[in-house]
This record gives sequence, C-alpha cells and structure tokens, in this order.
Amino acid sequence: MTDRPTAPAGFVPGADRSRPPSPGDLALPVAGRRLLTGADGGLPRIEDLPADVDWVPVGTLDGTPAWAAEVVDADALPGRWRGWRGLAAELPEPLATLAGRALAVVTWRRTHRWCGACRTELVDVPGETARRCPGCDLTVFVPLSVAVLVAITRPGRDGGPDELLLVRHAYGPTELWALVAGFVEAGESLEAAAHREVGEEVGLTIDRPAYVDSQPWAMSGPGTLLAGFTATVTGPDAEPVVDPRELTEARWFPVDALPAELPPAYSISRWLIDAVAV
Ligand SMILES: [Zn+2]
Repeated sequence: MTDRPTAPAGFVPGADRSRPPSPGDLALPVAGRRLLTGADGGLPRIEDLPADVDWVPVGTLDGTPAWAAEVVDADALPGRWRGWRGLAAELPEPLATLAGRALAVVTWRRTHRWCGACRTELVDVPGETARRCPGCDLTVFVPLSVAVLVAITRPGRDGGPDELLLVRHAYGPTELWALVAGFVEAGESLEAAAHREVGEEVGLTIDRPAYVDSQPWAMSGPGTLLAGFTATVTGPDAEPVVDPRELTEARWFPVDALPAELPPAYSISRWLIDAVAV
C-alpha cells in the first residue's frame, strides 16, 4: 500500500489553473453583489451551469476544486440568489467563507480590469490571485481593507456585573446595539486603530486591547477583514461622548442584562459580545 496524499479538509483558498473545471467541481456564479446557491441550499456544480462560463479558481473545499465567475443572464439560472448577509446567515461554515471569497474575487476582477498606471488591460498571473500588466509589469493583488471592532468593558458598580459599552451607528443597521468599529489607516497597527477609533467615536481611553478573533466580511468591499478585540476603559467612571457623525447613541449595559437588538449570530460583533457576556 502506498500512502496517498489526503485532500485538505475544509476550505483552502487558492488559484490553481493547472487543469480546467470538471463537471463535478463546485460552481459559484456571481451577479453584482449576489451569489447563486442551489435550490437545496448547497452549492451548484459546474455541470449545472452553461458551458460558456469563464470560471476563475478560488480554492478547494474538502479537496474539491471551487470556481467562481461573473454571469450576465442571472435570471435564467435555476437556484436562489443571495447577498452576503443571507449567505453568512444561512450557509454553514465553511461554505459561507468560500462564498465570501468568491464574491471578493469576482468583484475584484471586475474593478481591476485595467492597469492603474498605464491603462493596459491586465492579465491573470498563473497560480495566484493576482493580475499583472503586460505593459509596465505592475502586479495587482486583491486589496485587503482591515477594520477593528472593540468590545469595551468596565467593572460593575457596587460589586455588580461588569458593564459592556454598546453603540448605535448613524448608518447601516441603525437599530442594532453594536460595537465601536472602524477601518485601519495605512501605516497604523491594529492596536493603534482600536485606540484611535475608541477615542474618536466615544471619547474614551482604553487599556491595551486584547486580540480575540477575525472574520472575512464580504459585505463592504472586495476584501474586508474584521479584527476583533476586547479592552477595558481607563477610569471606571468614564462616560462615553458620541461622535454624532458616526453614532446616535452609546450606553453601558450590565453584561447580564444586554439589549435584545444585538448583531446576528454569524458576525464577529456578536462573537465578541458573547465572549464578554459569559
Ligand atoms: Zn501598466
């Protein structure tokens, strides 16, 4: 008996073009900001889609290659079209992560067709999720936009439970009680961004933020990555002062009496809230 290489489990991102798509490979058709799932809620196969689709490799799922493509005649295809929130909410992992990468790669290819330096049409770099300019050799990768989220707590009053700072944003799902969050600036560390965003949005000073987890988020651009932190405020009596351009409200809640309007279970915001609420 010879040892056979075992296929990697789960979703592994990649860009292997060494062979064309097979009929049984996974297919992720994208139209605009939506992705097609099968009638059974799973992913369709290459053989379920028209033969003239220009597939792009996005990785493997339990060893099976997965391909994504932008399709034009979306309404003619059988199945269900869903946006990122629906995909994240309804697809089990790692399908949701794979769907997010397909949305990101297809959106990136649509918005990075020409060289930004010399306007020549870009070509794919074999084996990589990258495009190169034949005119001036500029290489373009999927841009990652990193945002930090911070679950801020303070000790409870009079021996009561710790309190968590929740905020309501002035845009997006405004009814939710969420976390202070914002994009990292070029040249800034994740921790520095956390300190800055907390200062700007609620006027508080925090101790060194502790990294908890991260989540790719296909909602707000081709490559958004959310990094979640917990932190405690410096000075137990600190009260938030909201930046009205970003927030409508900010309030301390005892961790055993959080409001009902919390972010959905598939979001890192909720993971962080649940982590401090136990
Ligand atoms: Zn160029």
